[in-house]
Amino acid sequence: MQARRGIALVAHDNCKQDMVDWARFNRRTLAAHRLFATGTTGGRLVDEVGLSVIRLRSGPHGGDQQIGSRIAEGEVDLLIFFWDPLAAQPHEPDVRALLRLAVLSNIPVACNRASADFIISSPLLTGRDPWAPELVRT
Ligand code: PGA
Repeated sequence: MQARRGIALVAHDNCKQDMVDWARFNRRTLAAHRLFATGTTGGRLVDEVGLSVIRLRSGPHGGDQQIGSRIAEGEVDLLIFFWDPLAAQPHEPDVRALLRLAVLSNIPVACNRASADFIISSPLLTGRDPWAPELVRT
């Protein structure tokens, strides 16, 4: 039986089209997992890609923190986070906190399409407990 992962998806405004295109290409794979997303990103994934997504608040209004909390609770196994390297964000501290928690929790993080492609096509995605989260989460 294939593992069902918790996958969190977040994209800053200038990266949202990239996220939609990437998710559309990987729709079948993503649909087999439990998806979380910040508000606006999630809305586009629902409306334009047809995915079923647990939508949290918009990033600048606490959505990044909510994703971080799901990571801390062990509900998120990987993070696809297309953050914008060319624009300052009003919620920069939340962005940093989210990335910090993901690294601390030893979950894979993809910050652009190339790394997202590597993760989504990895045999570890559906393998049994590949990164043994119970060993690293406290
Ligand atoms: P959004 O949030 O999906 O609600 O735009 C993403 C972010 O800015 O962190």
